[in-house]
Amino acid sequence: MRLLVTGGAGFIGSHYVHHVLSTTDDQVTVLDALTYAGSLQNLGPALHSDRLTFVEGNILDGGLVDDLVKTHDAVVHLAAESHVDRSFLAGGHFLTVNVLGTQLLLDAARRHRVGKFVHVSTDEVYGPLPEGAAAEDAPLRPTVPYAASKAASDLVALSAYATHRVPVCVTRSSNNYGPRQHPEKVIPRFVTRLLKGERVGLHGRGEHVRNWIHVSDNAAGIDLVLRHGRPGEVYNLGGGTDLTNQQLTEHILRACGAGWDRVDYIPDRQSNDLRYAMTWTKAARLGYGPNRGFEGGLEQTVDWYRANTGRWAPPHRNADSPVCRVLMSRPAPPV
Ligand code: NAD
Repeated sequence: MRLLVTGGAGFIGSHYVHHVLSTTDDQVTVLDALTYAGSLQNLGPALHSDRLTFVEGNILDGGLVDDLVKTHDAVVHLAAESHVDRSFLAGGHFLTVNVLGTQLLLDAARRHRVGKFVHVSTDEVYGPLPEGAAAEDAPLRPTVPYAASKAASDLVALSAYATHRVPVCVTRSSNNYGPRQHPEKVIPRFVTRLLKGERVGLHGRGEHVRNWIHVSDNAAGIDLVLRHGRPGEVYNLGGGTDLTNQQLTEHILRACGAGWDRVDYIPDRQSNDLRYAMTWTKAARLGYGPNRGFEGGLEQTVDWYRANTGRWAPPHRNADSPVCRVLMSRPAPPV
């Protein structure tokens, strides 16, 4: 299969590309704009594989997207703006990349009749749940601009199936962790600060609850949905571990050999959902199940940051500007 992976130089995308190259004979093309969040270092030795082609480009470049989709059998779409805190400052940019970018890819997928289109999304679209767990048909109640843009893109993707029968599946995973995650996200931020001997700040009283999935489990789940998921369906992909941020901090402190004296309680951010939770029995019926235990996965993650100090603050290209510079530079052909 010829597979187009958008966002393949990012955290989850690069793990997904490594997963495909090591478990299949597929040819993979990565389309990635290498924003502050993407790095060729994430692809590492895979860049030398004759089964991988890397294209630096923007999903908002309709002409480029059309050219690429035309020559591929399937699309796995991960490219997105992904950091909640940044979305507070740049909601319009998140909407443009996450929703319009998805639409341009879907239009091309429709034109060229791709065999499968997997849209990668998040449990944050369900919004906070004081109790219980969201199944795939639960209402979408996002509360932060990032999650709202992902919910909108999920609906756009599912409407392409309903209207045009573009063979779309949506995956929604919980919080990912593992090697190569950008240090703006909580686990690498805490780990790198503690390893540097610095202090960490815990929002509120640390009572927020998140489910954690090792990135390798998400990569395997996405691939399962690509090959066996039913078009038009959503699949939740959860990890085995629910933790309050207080409990998460305890795990990280232990893994880094640090104590609570290195933790400051800081005011909560302007919007912070108290609890996410979802079921994943539907994906389990395809054969999905999280394999990585949290403690072992966290240890592996800490070891990776210890060994890769050069990645604690990756070289940023558009670091200061959340504004995308290529906006519809080559319009796509009409649908
Ligand atoms: P990331 O920020 O590490 O990577 C995003 C990648 O997309 C980067 O390589 C970036 O360069 C690229 N990109 C951004 N804008 C682009 C554009 N306009 N054109 C082309 N490439 C562009 O994100 P991640 O954590 O790997 O997340 C990947 C996907 O998974 C996202 O869609 C995100 O919403 C979703 N997701 C993430 C998590 C998580 O915990 N990280 C959980 C659930 C779902």
